[in-house]
Amino acid sequence: MALRIFNTLSRSVQDFKPLDPAGRAVGMYCCGPTVHDFAHIGNFRTFVFADVVRRYLEFKGYAITHVMNITDVEDKIIRRVREGGLKLADFTREREKAFFDDLDALGCKRPHQIPRATEFIPEMIALIGKLMERGIAYQAPDKSIYFSIEKYRGCGCTYGQLQKLNFEEMRVGDRVSSDEYEKESVADFALWKARVPEDGDVFWESPWGPGRPGWHIECSAMSMKLLGETFDLHLGGEDLVFPHHEDEIAQSEGASGRPFVKYWMHGAHLLVEGKKMSKSLGNFFTLRDLLAKGFSGREIRYLLMSSHYRETFNFTIEGLTGARSALARIDECVAKLRELAGTQTSSASGELLSRFTDSMDEDLNVAGAWGAVFDWVRDSNRKLATSDVSAEQAAAMLASWNQVEAVLGIGQKEESEAPAELLALLEERQAARKAKDFKRADAIRDELKAKGWVIEDTPKGPRLKKL
Ligand code: AMP
Ligand code: ZN
Repeated sequence: MALRIFNTLSRSVQDFKPLDPAGRAVGMYCCGPTVHDFAHIGNFRTFVFADVVRRYLEFKGYAITHVMNITDVEDKIIRRVREGGLKLADFTREREKAFFDDLDALGCKRPHQIPRATEFIPEMIALIGKLMERGIAYQAPDKSIYFSIEKYRGCGCTYGQLQKLNFEEMRVGDRVSSDEYEKESVADFALWKARVPEDGDVFWESPWGPGRPGWHIECSAMSMKLLGETFDLHLGGEDLVFPHHEDEIAQSEGASGRPFVKYWMHGAHLLVEGKKMSKSLGNFFTLRDLLAKGFSGREIRYLLMSSHYRETFNFTIEGLTGARSALARIDECVAKLRELAGTQTSSASGELLSRFTDSMDEDLNVAGAWGAVFDWVRDSNRKLATSDVSAEQAAAMLASWNQVEAVLGIGQKEESEAPAELLALLEERQAARKAKDFKRADAIRDELKAKGWVIEDTPKGPRLKKL
């Protein structure tokens, strides 16, 4: 079955058909973090969502190029740099590193390309130059360059593709210079912000004088440079629909004269205990806050993935405790199957894969997908309890699980110690070697291997490691 996704552009669920005539290559861009502070778990809901989309496309056999930018110059960052008397790169690199540590802890795959805005300034200047040439951008008296919505609409282009807008209220030539604004204030927005004293030493030379790029142009320049003027899929949190993504479309289509993105997917927001996260309400969590409470990255990932991406999700600490027991049920079942399968391999069989795929194909219906997983756990446990599951059968069950797990990305429980009876065998082998009974020692090594463990020599002596 074909994958179907809700496209914000058409406001409907559509079949996913990549632009590639061979139907294989997919370009996907997700707006990355603004590295002004530690990312919070709301941000991570969006990045885990992007990771699941990428993994599912891989599962479906697409050759995906996943790009995520780092916004390392923007209004909030400049304020922080100025307040702290810091160098821009020193400040942003530290936040960037923390972001990737968190992303790893959540089991997210690294995007294939991770462009930093400050390393694409020439591309941004070139893009603004094109808009100037086409008469869609203009320089205001403050020397900043603005995007003219009136000129853009005048060439038959549509402003308001993702968001319905009321132009009656708009006064031609009204300008907005900040990166974030409400749709009520539809106005010409800044592409290049002329240098002001508060910018300190954060500025670049341009044909229009020193300054810095606006936030929106950053994503247009980086995505088109790395994925082409038209690409398949663009993701982000729902708050980015307007103005950020609307402005990305306007800048890109205004400059290239071609459609920018075929499918737009937006993840709904995360609330904490029913409320918007805010420091003053004391319900503001970074990933680090939750790890410090003793929860693991995979428990947090599980919870963030437990509801449909287009539904607002209410994050609670009880939810995390629930995630812990849900994962324990999966871990226990998978561990038993591994023990039985030993080194046996097999191809996937059973209902799990088909049920999982049917659900995920329908706009990433994770509720259905988790339903398939937990029914599989229950059925497997029943089989394990009531019949002799052969190594081959266990291996086939595991093979299906491994494919599903490659999408869910919850990984395995931390490697535990080998069971006591295997440790006893290891000791017996040591004794046999000492007594020069190499036949017995080799037989024990083979027996351990058949059970899925290899002997590793370490400075502290031999230990058992899972195959
Ligand atoms: P930012 O670093 O602020 O640019 O945000 C990074 C990503 O997190 C964007 O895609 C936002 O849409 C998303 N985001 C911000 N707040 C939340 C939230 N409470 N829930 C889910 N996603 C969010
Ligand atoms: Zn963006």
